[in-house]
Amino acid sequence: MARYRDAVCRLCRREGGKLFLKGDRCYKSSCAIEKRGTQAPGQHGPTARRRVLQGYGEQLREKQKVKRIYFVLEKQFRNYFEKASRQKGITGENLLFMLEKRLDNVVFRAGFATSRRQARQLVNHGHIQVNGRKVNIPSFQVRVGDVITVKEKSVKNTHVDGAWSTAVGRGRPRWIAANEAEFSASITDLPKREDVDANINEQLIVELYSK
Ligand code: SF4
Repeated sequence: MARYRDAVCRLCRREGGKLFLKGDRCYKSSCAIEKRGTQAPGQHGPTARRRVLQGYGEQLREKQKVKRIYFVLEKQFRNYFEKASRQKGITGENLLFMLEKRLDNVVFRAGFATSRRQARQLVNHGHIQVNGRKVNIPSFQVRVGDVITVKEKSVKNTHVDGAWSTAVGRGRPRWIAANEAEFSASITDLPKREDVDANINEQLIVELYSK
């Protein structure tokens, strides 16, 4: 599968805000946005003026931002949109809910990893179990009642251990309940719009794909 291999902090600077792609560093003063502000990346970044985007440009930027937050490539993102538009309810919100329910996102949001990238790696490498069974598909959709755990052998993985011990500081969403002692997380509800990043304007994405 194709992967983004460039420096991820450039993506935050391109989108003009923190996308939290790099784990602990995103919460420290060494974050590129903290150090350099929201200037655009590249040679002319410091002097280039950000254009005020409207219409298509604004819609495109919003779509790119959400793709980058969830680390999803274009084809898969488009598929999510198609599915969302066939579901009952508001298409933009359906799209965000599907992205939130991805196993890699849940692993990150539950606190087993400090970034979605790290969470995806944990899933890909077979460290994550859903209801006691190994699931190594990052796009797996969790359901209410699912219990997410880390394989017994992987609990002592320093990345997992470190992430779990600092998870409270990063905050967990309302719909995921963590059992600190048992190193597990349960899905207690479906995500609602207020549980998803408020800085996303999903309507712009709907307008872009509806052209
Ligand atoms: Fe973005 Fe994190 Fe890099 Fe800061 S440290 S620019 S939030 S990826």
